[in-house]
Amino acid sequence: MKITEHIQKAKGKTLFSFEVIPPKKGNSIEELYKNIDPLMEFQPPFIDVTTSREEYYYIEHPNGLLEKKLTRMRPGTVGICAAIQHKYKVDTVPHVLCGGFSKEETEYLLVDCFYLGIDNVMALRGDAMKEQRYFQPTSGGHTYASDLVTQIHNLNKGVYLNGIAADQKADFCIGVAGYPEKHLEAPSLASDLQRLKEKIECGADYVVTQMFFDNQKYFEFVDKARQMGINVPIIPGIKPIAIKKHLNLLSQAFKIDFPEALIKAVEACKNNNEVKQVGIEWAVQQSKELKAAGVPVLHYYSMGKSDNIVKVISEVF
Ligand code: FAD
Repeated sequence: MKITEHIQKAKGKTLFSFEVIPPKKGNSIEELYKNIDPLMEFQPPFIDVTTSREEYYYIEHPNGLLEKKLTRMRPGTVGICAAIQHKYKVDTVPHVLCGGFSKEETEYLLVDCFYLGIDNVMALRGDAMKEQRYFQPTSGGHTYASDLVTQIHNLNKGVYLNGIAADQKADFCIGVAGYPEKHLEAPSLASDLQRLKEKIECGADYVVTQMFFDNQKYFEFVDKARQMGINVPIIPGIKPIAIKKHLNLLSQAFKIDFPEALIKAVEACKNNNEVKQVGIEWAVQQSKELKAAGVPVLHYYSMGKSDNIVKVISEVF
């Protein structure tokens, strides 16, 4: 079922969802299931599965020389989505990227999703590779998420690449990313919101936000989006912080601000167990306020670990 249908069916009740990361190549899927299992009790209508683009790694040869190779360390997003749908009877949302994929490869991936009964996809640009300063489109790939949304929307009209038309139309519900504190490369929040509007005009059906730690930022973002005529559901993304380093890592990676009260509480912690507890309490307060404000879904970034999400959810739902 489509995410938008789940939201309509809930009739104003806030739903709960979360996102998982595929295991590293060669690792078992069982670890992933162990993290999903305790969350299923709370009946999420859908689970997102992230995608990672290719990255460089080095092989050391006996003569001491290093060979540089390119690979995707966490492949299998669509396969994992199918496995989760089969095992838990829950909808899944594979993340589809511009970076690292040609349009042709993306079409094959979408055809797989269509055959597997995956009704939703999250269309994202992806980030620059670690070695690059700025995002560079992959040869034969898209430059912006809006181009990817257009490709998916075309499949929904039965239009494949190279002008091939088909009777069987796909029917994907398309999610896109939104940034309450603006995307790190955007020159202003206003211009970033304009880009978000373009993604909706290209065919996106809903938005999931980047993590934020101050709900006011989300509320203002939604107000501004509505004033601009963006009327699709805007789902807040929540991340309970778990280690002291998150304060610097997350603000550096995503250019997000932490409220002073949260910084003080984390800095006062003697170890990461205490930080985890602070992160849970902060996420509970955030979630309760957002739920009271009637957000359609509370979406949690699990980053591969679910114990803290379980604690948050049990207090909120
Ligand atoms: P876009 O919407 O293309 O925007 C990128 C930048 O370009 C913005 O600054 C925007 O303002 C600007 N822009 C857009 N259109 C134009 C235009 N026509 N002209 C000029 N500027 C323009 N990354 C992963 O690698 N894998 C994942 O699974 C993943 N999941 C995510 C899930 C969520 C909910 C979120 C919020 C992010 C996720 N990301 C993921 C990170 C995401 O890929 C990065 O934030 C990326 O840098 C931007 O992606 P986007 O889809 O927002 O890009």
